[in-house]
Amino acid sequence: MTDTKTLGDSLRENGVSRRGFLKFCTATASLMALPPTMVPVIAAALEKATRPSVIWLSFQECTGCTESLTRSHAPTVESLIFDHISLDYHHTLQVAAGDAAEKAREEAMHANMGKYLLVVDGSIPLGNPGYSTIAGISNLDMLKEAAAGAAAIVAVGTCASFGGLPKADPNPTGAVSVSDIIKDKPIINVSGCPPIPVVITGVLAHYLTFGSLPELDEQSRPKVFYGQSIHDRCYRRPFYDKGLFAETFDDEGAKAGWCLYKLGCKGPMTYNACATVKWNQGTSWPVESGHGCLGCSEPNFWDAGGFYNALSIPTGDISRNVAYSAAAGLALGAAAASLNSKAKKRAAEEHGVVTVDDLEKSS
Ligand code: SF4
Ligand code: SF4
Repeated sequence: MTDTKTLGDSLRENGVSRRGFLKFCTATASLMALPPTMVPVIAAALEKATRPSVIWLSFQECTGCTESLTRSHAPTVESLIFDHISLDYHHTLQVAAGDAAEKAREEAMHANMGKYLLVVDGSIPLGNPGYSTIAGISNLDMLKEAAAGAAAIVAVGTCASFGGLPKADPNPTGAVSVSDIIKDKPIINVSGCPPIPVVITGVLAHYLTFGSLPELDEQSRPKVFYGQSIHDRCYRRPFYDKGLFAETFDDEGAKAGWCLYKLGCKGPMTYNACATVKWNQGTSWPVESGHGCLGCSEPNFWDAGGFYNALSIPTGDISRNVAYSAAAGLALGAAAASLNSKAKKRAAEEHGVVTVDDLEKSS
């Protein structure tokens, strides 16, 4: 429901220090590729932000997206922001059940008509309205009703963004994405199976701060998190560029950390922030753990030819393709290196002048 308590009030009540909050704002600005001059703006806006209403609908999904969010170790400022935005309706996390839960959803929708943020995980079955229902209401009808009063929609996970696993061939339920149905609202796709928690909180922080969604790519994903491929940022990339590939998961190349391309890594065609943001509080990510990227943030990744099949290496001509890959890698690598050095220089220039200490002094 609507609430006059600000995020600043919530932060203080929960014992989050000013320093901890500014660190989060600095990290958020950096993640969103904003200059450090924006950190005080983000801090001021977040601190004054009042509690927006969020309605979260789960359709054909495995609950992995919600699990991903709730697995962040608590308490963090990110989780507080997530808590702060409040979920007026989330049928996995809410206490209310049955009629009381549906009443809460209807009240939140009417009280915040045109202003609430609608978050959706899971795909919507069009094959038969009875395939997936909540309180006897089909996913399609509930989505249309909730979307009508939303200010914007966040499709969390690859199922809501692109159809995901339920849409995999032969798509028995006729699963579709949110954007296949809703055409008249701003929609942001936060894809991934599941998405990285900090990417979800980054999008929510952007919405809280600026009252709008961040810049999107052609798949309606936030560019700051999905603007570069896994391959562009992978620490194994130097091995790819030299044509050094692990052939099995336990050979000498695998032990030496060589590229996993020939073991099916989909990093070259996958756009996500795993290589930089990582998982489990920045501990590691799949390629660092020795397994290729599955391409989970891309449309149709379940039908992309097998998780352990190399992307474009025909069986009869591996050596030529590897040579081609290495050459292409070198060309791409050179371009990326040039871009990276410019970006690093700019970041060094911009990031060198503002520290949390400076911000603490000036706030
Ligand atoms: S193919 Fe995979 S393992 Fe190899 S450099 Fe690219 S992302 Fe990394
Ligand atoms: S490494 Fe690839 S498959 Fe794994 S979570 Fe990231 S985008 Fe998804």
